[in-house]
Amino acid sequence: MKYISTRDNCEALPFSKAVDLGMVPAGGLFVPSEIPRIDFAKFVNSSYQELAKAVLAPFMDDFSGEEISSCVDQAYTNESFHNPDAANTVSLGKDKYVLELWHGPTAAFKDMALQIMPHFMRYAKVKSGDKSHTMILVATSGDTGKAALEGFKNRDGISIVVFYPHGGVSEIQKLQMATTEGSNTHVIAVRGNFDDCQNSVKELFGDDELRKEAADHGTVFSSANSINWGRLCPQIVYYVKAYLQLVKDGKITYGDKIDFCVPTGNFGNILAGFYAKEMGLPIRKLICASNRNNVLTDFFTDGTYDRNRDFHKTMSPSMDILISSNLERFLFEMSDRDAGKVYSWYITLGCTGSFTVDQIVKDRIDRVIKAAWVDEQEVLDTIGAVHRESNYVMDTHTAVAAAAARKSDSDVPVVIVSTASPYKFSADVLKGLGAKSGADEFESVSELSRTSSTPVHRAVDGLKGKKLLHDKVIDISEMREAVRRLLRA
Ligand SMILES: *Cc1c(COP(=O)(O)O)cnc(C)c1O
Repeated sequence: MKYISTRDNCEALPFSKAVDLGMVPAGGLFVPSEIPRIDFAKFVNSSYQELAKAVLAPFMDDFSGEEISSCVDQAYTNESFHNPDAANTVSLGKDKYVLELWHGPTAAFKDMALQIMPHFMRYAKVKSGDKSHTMILVATSGDTGKAALEGFKNRDGISIVVFYPHGGVSEIQKLQMATTEGSNTHVIAVRGNFDDCQNSVKELFGDDELRKEAADHGTVFSSANSINWGRLCPQIVYYVKAYLQLVKDGKITYGDKIDFCVPTGNFGNILAGFYAKEMGLPIRKLICASNRNNVLTDFFTDGTYDRNRDFHKTMSPSMDILISSNLERFLFEMSDRDAGKVYSWYITLGCTGSFTVDQIVKDRIDRVIKAAWVDEQEVLDTIGAVHRESNYVMDTHTAVAAAAARKSDSDVPVVIVSTASPYKFSADVLKGLGAKSGADEFESVSELSRTSSTPVHRAVDGLKGKKLLHDKVIDISEMREAVRRLLRA
């Protein structure tokens, strides 16, 4: 298996090299040269770890079986996920299910990938004979930052720099990041929104002069964002696991088609669902759920992606995004892997802020994707309604998906992908439940625990009283200099 660029501007590389590089140096994203097919029916009784090994193996064939096993077994431990299966599916009744992806150390679904990716990187560096220090540059809308910090902290030969939008993440998310220990971790707030952070980080990757300067210090840059294939492929596993769980529980028969509804930002999570479908999992439709930042809903409605619009801060900040990086991979697949087309769309996007796909591509997309967006009031109403009807408490991101699933009235079972613990967004969740929020974040957390009779997630519980270790705030224009300073340090 080799990895090729969505813009056909890079030689085909093995998994280890694609992971080590993060993204294609000249712009573009790595995708597997072919999509393997697997007979998933054989894995109905497998553990999460066994399934992960089988799903990942064809994508990383430059790793030995032992190496893959070692990555999986170190990542998906009961200790890290408090759950032997890492992810579990619960029923809301009426053919609706919730796939809980937030049992990991930071209470967000990003842990599903970021607990394993550092292990990929360690082996990848050895395999590609790369003896340099790796500096991971991350732009985060909240959850990636903490999950990446936890995954990479105190790893030899690696340091990590996280940029997040100042004032653009929740109080808990900020505390989670700012209290991170570890000698190799850096957290910096940037005056700007997530798109500004992400664009600047992409520019830093493409900055030849900066790369040379890094090389002089024995350092290479890499990415832990979902533009890195090493982060994307572990996410395929939980779609398969959720489906097989329903089969095992007798809710469906293998072969029955179901829908997954995914709260979407950068399009990484839902794209993993698409690859699961292409690998042979009986998925009917993927429902792309958005908040008020509904650039994707509009795109899936009329075929025009137009980022020239206002940016809204919402109660689901991890989805406050106007440029969904992984859409590029999806368009590459939907255009029959026509890199020329993809390249021209993204050049147009860069120049004008928008592009339109042709009807053939649009028709193909329509066969796979449904899309819906929900406003803030619907999010709160949904949190309340689900709690009343199913005695289940969901976070604001999951509620976007639950509301979108209602709107799209599926006539097949729907799995709502739950991306964060409600304790990360306690005050808003309480509002949805019709309860009063506390005077501060921690009081809201305790109140949510009382109201919902559920235990506080350990990632949130442990935050109180922790020392703030990172408090730097800079302008977007200062990001490059901040990285240079860390190189010299
Ligand atoms: C990152 C994140 C999302 C969006 O996932 P993408 O892969 O970027 O589409 C949704 N919900 C939560 C809680 C997240 O952390």
